[in-house]
Amino acid sequence: MFTDILEMGEQTTLRRQVVVVGSGIAGAEVSTYLARHGLEVTLIESGREQFDPAIQALNDVTFLGKRHRQLNPNSYYHRYLPPALRGVSRVRQFGGTSNVWTGKWKYLQPSDFEGRDWVPNSGWPISFEDLLEHYRSAAKDYSFGDLEAEAVRPEIMTFRSKIAAAGLKVSSFYWEQTPTRTVKRFGEEMRQSKNLQVLMGATATELMLDESKQHVSAVNCRSLEGKEITVEGETVVLAMGALESARLLLASDRQIPAGIGNEHDLVGRFYTDHPKHHTGSLRPGALTREYARELQYAPKPRFCTCFALDDQTQEAEKLLEHVLYLKPIYETRLGALRRILTLRPACQDGNGIVDSYRVKFVVEQVPHKDSRITLSTERDPLGKRKIALDWRFTEQDKRSMAKTIQLLAERFEQSGLGAFDFGNDPPTLETMTDAAHQMGTTRMANRPEAGVVDTNCRVFGTDNLYIASSAVFPTGPSYSPTFTILALARRLGEHLRQTISLQPVANVAIR
Ligand SMILES: Cc1cc2nc3c(=O)[nH]c(=O)nc-3n(C[C@H](O)[C@H](O)[C@H](O)COP(=O)(O)OP(=O)(O)OC[C@H]3O[C@@H](n4cnc5c(N)ncnc54)[C@H](O)[C@@H]3O)c2cc1C
Repeated sequence: MFTDILEMGEQTTLRRQVVVVGSGIAGAEVSTYLARHGLEVTLIESGREQFDPAIQALNDVTFLGKRHRQLNPNSYYHRYLPPALRGVSRVRQFGGTSNVWTGKWKYLQPSDFEGRDWVPNSGWPISFEDLLEHYRSAAKDYSFGDLEAEAVRPEIMTFRSKIAAAGLKVSSFYWEQTPTRTVKRFGEEMRQSKNLQVLMGATATELMLDESKQHVSAVNCRSLEGKEITVEGETVVLAMGALESARLLLASDRQIPAGIGNEHDLVGRFYTDHPKHHTGSLRPGALTREYARELQYAPKPRFCTCFALDDQTQEAEKLLEHVLYLKPIYETRLGALRRILTLRPACQDGNGIVDSYRVKFVVEQVPHKDSRITLSTERDPLGKRKIALDWRFTEQDKRSMAKTIQLLAERFEQSGLGAFDFGNDPPTLETMTDAAHQMGTTRMANRPEAGVVDTNCRVFGTDNLYIASSAVFPTGPSYSPTFTILALARRLGEHLRQTISLQPVANVAIR
């Protein structure tokens, strides 16, 4: 059932078994899963069905460190979006950022969960095996095709062994034809559901604790029009993305001055993204020509590949995992003439003759305590303190990136993949943009001194508050976080289903 907060009339309190905040991929997954299994759920969403720039403005951030990309109606790589959404890194609307994303789904690798002794604060307290069944079931339900079978397809195996000889590795991701939009996938189910109420136009402004100060009893919400409502629940899940989930914990400071879950001053810290650079090119060599069909980007849906230095090199050189993507740029008539005149062999894939590949270089960064969000003194239109984002890098980040570029360039040439040309614009952290992959602000750990949530994504120091978001990622080693966000959300849904009593509570209380 859909309800706008403005339709609540005089009613000021709602009560449900489960309260989920945020209707992006994570929140939609948890809330529909629990509702399907008989639990009564309210899904609180700041946005509405139609995009509203005034609501989007609630996402405005005060930047203290490196800035995010900015809204750019002329942005070439977001031309598929309406101008109001070109260049935004997250979206305040029913369906969240799934309204704009590009639909690349990628597993983390087993090694990504392991600690690397040369990467401070690395290692997850759960393993790849803990997520595998959730990756698998999501891939099946969303009809992704079989990433595991793709990894052992004979052509990919041969390609992998050829580049392995040069100290490189490839991994695959699945690229949807039309990216999953929460609204399309779940909208009708949500509208028809008797157990699930989607409350739109309602921005969660504060979490209220009971007397124990360990139990979240309610979520206070407000709309831009001034309507206020309190949503009470036995279990609360924050699925508002990495920035807003941490913001709400910090802003809920009336009963605990440092904010909820912040006993060890860790909420908002270890903020990372994937800085990316996308203006270089690759002139294809013999190996690329041989495997050009493996490097196609179209037609979608399809499996695509990306490159990195192999694990041994990363360990030997003490590097982070940086990833390189190659997008085919097809030959023009003039390009064909030039190629024929210079006797350059054609690089033919299933779509045409590739002139060159656009290179996208994407960077992992060291999880670092001082890269963080705090609350600014500036206020948003609801009177709440804005996020102050201090996105920082370490010397290790810079060294790792420069060394990786050098080694990739050498190894691409040696293996016959080709030669890079970054022109006057080599990748540097100064010129790179964010990838809209905010991570790490409520990192997962085995103990409260090391993180904000436990291995079930429950906020330490509380007994009923959970986070479904890349906020819980302790590291961001690979590109494309959303498959892992979804797998974690599925895992959380199952955990909550097992732990929450199936006794219905009084449906709606009017006060
Ligand atoms: C242009 C673009 C392309 C991308 N492409 C890819 C890709 O190909 N592959 C990939 O893996 N990732 C990609 N991403 C990242 C991906 O979109 C995100 O990782 C993912 O959508 C996050 O989902 P989420 O549910 O955690 O958060 P979101 O989708 O951001 O959902 C958060 C929700 O919470 C709501 N909310 C926020 N604050 C409040 C509040 N106080 N009260 C109530 N509600 C609130 C928001 O309105 C929103 O609906 C891309 C991102 C962008 C911007």
